[in-house]
Amino acid sequence: MTYFRPNIQALSAYIPGEQPSPETKVIKLNTNENPYPPSPKALQVLRNIDGELLRRYPHPMAETFRQAASQAFGVPPDWILVGNGSDEILTMIFRGFAEPGRKVVYPMPTYVLYRTLSQIQDAETIEIPYPEDYRLPVEELVKAGGSVTFVVSPNSPSGTQIPLDLLDTLAVRLSGVLVIDEAYVDFAETSALELVKKHDNVIVTRTLSKGYSLAGLRLGFAIAHPHLLSGLIKVKDSYNVDAISCLVGAAAIADSEYKNANAEKIKATRSRMAHQLQELGFKIWSSQANFLLVQPASTFPHNAESLYQNLKQQGILVRYFPQPRLNDKLRITVGTPEETEALISAIAKF
Ligand code: PMP
Repeated sequence: MTYFRPNIQALSAYIPGEQPSPETKVIKLNTNENPYPPSPKALQVLRNIDGELLRRYPHPMAETFRQAASQAFGVPPDWILVGNGSDEILTMIFRGFAEPGRKVVYPMPTYVLYRTLSQIQDAETIEIPYPEDYRLPVEELVKAGGSVTFVVSPNSPSGTQIPLDLLDTLAVRLSGVLVIDEAYVDFAETSALELVKKHDNVIVTRTLSKGYSLAGLRLGFAIAHPHLLSGLIKVKDSYNVDAISCLVGAAAIADSEYKNANAEKIKATRSRMAHQLQELGFKIWSSQANFLLVQPASTFPHNAESLYQNLKQQGILVRYFPQPRLNDKLRITVGTPEETEALISAIAKF
């Protein structure tokens, strides 16, 4: 293993949540997928894909998707950069802004991939602890002086929405770039998208994996001032978005009505689920995402890890993070009403 760079040798591989094969019968509430199918209009485009489309290389900027996203969000196409999932957008951001001697800053707990990507770049990683109520530690983030600072809103795993005025203040006070990761924004009441027009150091990242039920397609994008995106284009892979994803994604992003209707169902289930778990004695963080962070009450006879194991034995996968500050909690995706009922009765039984 000594062939590798020292920082890669020291790196622990990023482990996403368990992905059992589709034929395994489980209730899957561990990786925040949408329980409803993708837009019928997107599936129709998929069925009509012509082989000729696949014979040729795709457009290097995923132009069809870019045009559709430009329409959907009311920003010019050159304010949009498309990636193979928003994970690839994050990779481009780290390639573009992070290197040894530069600081990467984010509040913790948050999306665990940031640490991995920062270590790959061998950047100085500064993790600022969130307080127990997940209020954004603005002063500490500013003081840390990042070349690039990441804030997830709504945050994962807490589900908490970061108020727009705090993100606005952060954008003004940071001398580096502010990335606002809005992977879960489709389940929230507000977005920080307007900040990209106000501040030329802000990048908003989005995905089709959650709100649009297309995690398997791998499509995400960044919205920012073209002067920021022009640097990211230099570090992207040449044909990073395949031709099928580009076309299917364009149809999905245009069908906001379908996406919003599913989001409304999920939000209604989320509030019922929060209420039922509270009745069972769990502590719940106020969530604007499609999942809840929950902590068994001290009176509950089992800890988070044994609850995770027991639910797994009952065929229900939830997310347990064996890391400080999260090892007494579970993150549970909001599924269909039926899946949620099954979860609640499995917990009650245990
Ligand atoms: N950001 C956050 C906060 C996430 O939770 C995820 C999904 N795990 C992503 C980005 C990446 O999403 P995708 O690559 O599927 O677009």
